[in-house]
Amino acid sequence: MGDLSQGAAFIDDRYIPVAEASISLLDWGFLHSDATYDVAHVWKGRFFRIDAYLDRFERSMQRLRMSVPYSREQIREVMFELVRRSGLRDAYVEIVCTRGIPAPGSRDPRTCSNRFMAFAIPFVWIADDRLRAQGMNLLISRHQRIPPESVDPRIKNYHWLDMVMGLFEAYDAGADSAVLVDAVGNLVEGPGFNIFVRCGDRVITPARGVLEGVTRATVLELLAAEKLQVSTELLPAAMARAADEVFITSTAGGVMPVTRISGQAVGGGLPGALTARLNDAYWALHDDPHYTTAINYGGAPNEE
Ligand code: PLP
Repeated sequence: MGDLSQGAAFIDDRYIPVAEASISLLDWGFLHSDATYDVAHVWKGRFFRIDAYLDRFERSMQRLRMSVPYSREQIREVMFELVRRSGLRDAYVEIVCTRGIPAPGSRDPRTCSNRFMAFAIPFVWIADDRLRAQGMNLLISRHQRIPPESVDPRIKNYHWLDMVMGLFEAYDAGADSAVLVDAVGNLVEGPGFNIFVRCGDRVITPARGVLEGVTRATVLELLAAEKLQVSTELLPAAMARAADEVFITSTAGGVMPVTRISGQAVGGGLPGALTARLNDAYWALHDDPHYTTAINYGGAPNEE
């Protein structure tokens, strides 16, 4: 077994270094983005809300009419084993199901055997330390997110061409990331995150056209402790431009402040107090056994 400390993969029933893991060129997961995936994280040696991620992965597979020869318990165990073997204390753990390869000469997805694979790599942040401290400049993209009538965004998917072009557009404009819009210009989501705005005592996150983020759900729970009117509804771009506070949520970073929308200051142009409170509360949950599951590393490498 090679060095797994930079990341471990599980594929074809084997644990190998992530850099050595590969799939067939003929897998529709590669050829047609015909795949679903999920990403949970480990922080200080504990999985955060692992069952919420597994629930979403199972729902995604059902909606795509996929199934794999591993039970939920086995998939959960693979996730733990990947982290154990890599020794990573802060990790990003991705589980993937691809359509697989159709029978020779066939284009019938019913002939495919769906495939399961997974990997654990060091934790990935959407925004670096500086951006998390100062706040991000988020461009309202000209790109429309693939409409939910075409690809259901509640299924976590690799249809990212709109997102990636949005990122290029953002970088060209000197922004840090992009938020995509729906057909009539409401904000939906960005590459790897959901968005929230606060206008006075109202807090809004888009109701539809988005992945139902585990971080979004956690923040909605945390918001119940605030004296605010919280709703999921349409989020017109004008509302985000006029907001007192804007923040994004993701497994890859928690609750992150947005201090400029398309270059224009949000509120006073500084990270908002609600954003900071929610981010602190979110990370505090990572020490709470109700929200986390400890990994038993045994004699694994990189032990602290
Ligand atoms: N929206 C998209 C398109 C995503 O890919 C992600 C996560 O990677 C999110 C939203 C945020 O979801 P979560 O909080 O579950 O990470």
